[in-house]
Amino acid sequence: MLKLPVYLDYHATTPTDPRVVEAMTPYFSDRFGNASSRQHSFGWIARDAVELARRQLATLIGCHSREVYFTSGATESNNLALKGIVSASTKRRIHVVTVATEHRAVLDPCRVLQDLGVRVTVVQPDQDGLISVEVIKRAITTETVLITVMTANNEIGVLHPISEIGALARSHGIVFHTDAAQALGKMPFVVEDLSVDLASFSAHKIYGPKGVGALYVRRRANVPLLPLIDGGGHEQGLRSGTLNVPGIVGFGCAASICQSDLIDERKRTQMLRDRLLSGLEYRLERIRVNGSLKHRLPNNLNVAFAGLEGESLLAGLNDVAVSSGAACTSANPEASHVLKAIGVPDILARASLRFGLGRWTTSEEIDYVVDKVSSLVTRLRELSSITDDDQVH
Ligand SMILES: *Cc1c(COP(=O)(O)O)cnc(C)c1O
Repeated sequence: MLKLPVYLDYHATTPTDPRVVEAMTPYFSDRFGNASSRQHSFGWIARDAVELARRQLATLIGCHSREVYFTSGATESNNLALKGIVSASTKRRIHVVTVATEHRAVLDPCRVLQDLGVRVTVVQPDQDGLISVEVIKRAITTETVLITVMTANNEIGVLHPISEIGALARSHGIVFHTDAAQALGKMPFVVEDLSVDLASFSAHKIYGPKGVGALYVRRRANVPLLPLIDGGGHEQGLRSGTLNVPGIVGFGCAASICQSDLIDERKRTQMLRDRLLSGLEYRLERIRVNGSLKHRLPNNLNVAFAGLEGESLLAGLNDVAVSSGAACTSANPEASHVLKAIGVPDILARASLRFGLGRWTTSEEIDYVVDKVSSLVTRLRELSSITDDDQVH
């Protein structure tokens, strides 16, 4: 039996895996200790649990557990990476390179740094949403201290050439950061293979709890990094504050489940994603995939539907949970900055849907969504006054 509404917004957040909830539960009750309490077993038990979680995440990303720093999420990790590198820099003039399609959690801190006098170059991707190593290379100056490029985009799922950019940064002695919140657990992400110095992760994107994340900091890079939060010297002095033990335990457990399921899950979600696309293409004309289909997360699809008003598209999909290319937050009903950056006209961006598939997506759900979306789009097109000429791609 199909359970409604169908959830296809796994890029926004994922449900916490029941195994993760089970692993976390004792740390709210019996094992409630403070991981910094050194003088009794309550503290030791909490600390051991945190260290196990650190090893679980370190194993997934192929690093030493001392290189993993727990935070409140990928937003904090990005802020710590960007602001931390800049504030630790002894250079008089500082330059940072980023990309127009980054998450707000990278672009907003960059804007703050810019207001503080840092020079920021925002590189534009091509029409497929991809950036090339050459484009990044051209942006580098003698003042560049940091390059930040996300591994996988949260709206169009495209995968940037991270290992090449990492190698480029390393050859210039520039610190390389990547926001890997969407990539973690969905594709192999091994920091050494990618030449990454700093990487941000979030538990709630990999079936862990909300409010926990991590920053990987490569030890051998000797990255000078200042904390955002001081007070107590937790996490090797980089992120003070009593550790969120249940959350961290859940993050570790979620990472370890991803590790064992990765290969199968990747195949399964990609098959369902392809079924979704071919279903829509079979039923509808004048649709177009936003972003490269080839260099893409297995669980993402982002489609523009020509010839209708975007507002009515989401409104008509009451039992399918997806995001549109209109509002990243409902308070901000503008066309997505990502779709804008890859040259999608506003009117088509607003008539775009982002489908994010995940661990509990079934083929029945996909077939239901294909049917729902196709009939809705057909109906809206009959009613619409928009012609194709209004929205040349
Ligand atoms: C979800 C997400 C974030 C924010 O992560 P939080 O843990 O919710 O702060 C940052 N970057 C990307 C690419 C994301 O998908």
